[in-house]
Amino acid sequence: MATKPKVAFFDFSCCEGCQLAAIDLTPEQLLDLLAVIDIVEFREAISEKSDSYDIAIIEGSITRDSDIPRLKKIRETAKILITLGACSTIAGINALKNFQPKIEYQQDVYADSPTKYETAPARAIHEVVTVDAFIPGCPIDTGEFVRVVKNLLLGKKPDIPEYPVCVECKRNENVCVYEKGIQCLGPVTRAGCNARCPTGGGYCFGCRGIIPEPNIKSQQDIMQKYDLTFNQMQEKFKLFLERNKEVFPNGK
Ligand code: SF4
Ligand code: SF4
Ligand code: SF4
Repeated sequence: MATKPKVAFFDFSCCEGCQLAAIDLTPEQLLDLLAVIDIVEFREAISEKSDSYDIAIIEGSITRDSDIPRLKKIRETAKILITLGACSTIAGINALKNFQPKIEYQQDVYADSPTKYETAPARAIHEVVTVDAFIPGCPIDTGEFVRVVKNLLLGKKPDIPEYPVCVECKRNENVCVYEKGIQCLGPVTRAGCNARCPTGGGYCFGCRGIIPEPNIKSQQDIMQKYDLTFNQMQEKFKLFLERNKEVFPNGK
């Protein structure tokens, strides 16, 4: 019987919610995955560690320079490197601090000794090493996680939507939240979550990142129609907007 590829999970700065989601598979999803891979390191689930693996799955952002050698070593070892979730894919909520001067957030967190701990602007993994595939979301969608891993094992391009959340939202027959005076990033955010937030009564805040070729004109038209400015959008969507701000017309 052919040897199964060895998979190792690693985390950097994050809440580890995406690894928890990866553990929380349905029995069918888990059996499906374990039929094609061997998990050799996964701190959330097993105590074993390994220096030998084929696929590295990385959760979290790089928020201090001392993490870079570890990440580069993982990159050198793995044949395939996958990011797991918004923190590793687009720097996620860690990038909130990139809006502030360093000394301000250091003082906010460690008032008594602000410079005691090393810190740096948050970076997504692809800003430091080459990434082969990205699994977006905060947290990830478990079905998508299993699908991407299996796609890569078959040598296929990961099957991740390149159309916006609005497509899924309209398919779910939701009333657009803009009609209720609520802003939403659905027109430019990558689908794949089945429009989870607007369908559940909320709005899309962009956790899956911006699609590769966003219809900027459409987003601008919406902002114009509802009399919104870039600054209003940025204030509301700071959580995941740091890497997305080029989408919006500055000051318009
Ligand atoms: S993407 Fe969200 S759920 Fe996943 S590790 Fe980061 S903060 Fe946690
Ligand atoms: S609620 Fe948001 S995702 Fe749904 S159609 Fe409106 S803008 Fe698009
Ligand atoms: S609707 Fe938007 S914010 Fe909500 S899960 Fe989907 S991409 Fe993320």
